Amino acid sequence: MNTMYYGKLIFELSQKGRIGYSLPDNGVSDDYSSLLPDALKRKSEPNLPEVDELTVVRHYTNMSNNNFGVDTGFYPLGSCTMKYNPKINEEICKLPGFVKIHPLQSEKSVQGLLEICYKLKRSLSEICGMSDFTLNPFAGAHGELTGLMVIRSYHRNRGDDKRTKIIVPDSAHGTNPASAACCGLQVVEVKSKEDGRIDVEALKSLLGDDIAGMMMTNPNTLGLFEYDIPQIAEMVHACGGLMYYDGANLNPMLGKCRPGDMGFDVAHLNLHKTFSTPHGGGGPGAGPVGVRKGLEMFLPTPHIVKNSQGEYLVEWDSEKSLGSISAFYGNVPVLLRAYSYIRTMGKDYLKKVGELSVLNAMYVRERLKSKYELPIASVCKHEFVFNGLKDKSTGVTTLDVAKRLLDYGFHAPTIYFPLLFHEALMIEPTENESRETLDCFIDAMLKIADEAERTPDVVKSAPHNSPVRRLDEVKAAREPRLTYLQLQSNPL
Ligand SMILES: *Cc1c(COP(=O)(O)O)cnc(C)c1O
Repeated sequence: MNTMYYGKLIFELSQKGRIGYSLPDNGVSDDYSSLLPDALKRKSEPNLPEVDELTVVRHYTNMSNNNFGVDTGFYPLGSCTMKYNPKINEEICKLPGFVKIHPLQSEKSVQGLLEICYKLKRSLSEICGMSDFTLNPFAGAHGELTGLMVIRSYHRNRGDDKRTKIIVPDSAHGTNPASAACCGLQVVEVKSKEDGRIDVEALKSLLGDDIAGMMMTNPNTLGLFEYDIPQIAEMVHACGGLMYYDGANLNPMLGKCRPGDMGFDVAHLNLHKTFSTPHGGGGPGAGPVGVRKGLEMFLPTPHIVKNSQGEYLVEWDSEKSLGSISAFYGNVPVLLRAYSYIRTMGKDYLKKVGELSVLNAMYVRERLKSKYELPIASVCKHEFVFNGLKDKSTGVTTLDVAKRLLDYGFHAPTIYFPLLFHEALMIEPTENESRETLDCFIDAMLKIADEAERTPDVVKSAPHNSPVRRLDEVKAAREPRLTYLQLQSNPL
């Protein structure tokens, strides 16, 4: 670790009068102050760090080395699918022919891009068993909102205005109820059974002519396959509602089963999770939405279509469409990566994604379940949830385990989600990891379980060798310090 730069802010490296460049005078006056109204003028010099170029380069390079990503290590963050994104897809989406396109260019001049978007829609429709897709939404949650707006448009188009409620399982991702609320729908929660799956009996009592539809995730947030879906879809359809599929985590389903075949009417995917876009910290992403036959006309505009001459056109307006939900065609670089991923993988290897992600999850689960509490024992899909350490007498919590993992060089799994268990620890190894990596992670997890018994204080006070020690997370969230305060000697 480089102590000169380690943990320091750029302001603390500042030396009065030091500059990063020196340019000859170009003879042009840079006094623009007469152009600014007095009220907007500074009363004092800005307090900026004064540093040379090399210090800036080292400072930011050292900071970037403190970051953790899937390209630096194992990242089993359940539900987020931090899987490896092949570099070929990065190369493709950065080709100058794509990067230099302007969204206001004529359709004729961007036929290649429109063709790719169109073919991506067709591929996603095939993968999901849907009739058509929109690529416009910028995230999974944005896709949910769009999909729910499709459902609302469908009911309104039939002149049915009384369907104001949507059923969401208690295991759902937090964005589900949030998107429903954004769409003006009232959320009705359906409980899970002991085995982690939806309680069909409880669902029966919620159905009625005020139900717009039901949102489901499959595999659900516990990584379990919801095998009652055919029956559930039949019940929801019988009461006049539509079925919504949260396909953010499509990994284990790729080429194996399709939401359309299960009875879903509307589905969103997270291209950034399943189809190769490096993501995290809130972006970048794309949440395309697919619909079954009969709902295509409600999809948002612009909508890319192909005419009988084989030309690609953009429909900016269409009578029944719910309208525009984003600027232009969506997050194009993410769409390009997804298309490249699908084409470079091909049908046979896409199928392997599901098989290997499930195999890896089952392997890690089986090797750890003697030390970590496994609340639901049935076969998991691409991820699973432990309820903390089996031995609760040591006082070592899931948070402690997660922090201690950082000391062993692993990113922590998702913790305290889903909310069904107090000490949830949600592990998603993904399909790309080798047996050696998984074994290394398993060894670390077993070692931590051992430490919890022998030297619990070491675990409780972890991390010990990460750039920043354990934070007061509540304080950090409630009183975030977003600017540098010079009075503080070391704000970290
Ligand atoms: C990640 C995720 C979402 C939300 O996707 P964003 O792109 O983060 O908005 C929704 N549902 C599930 C099941 C998810 O895992």
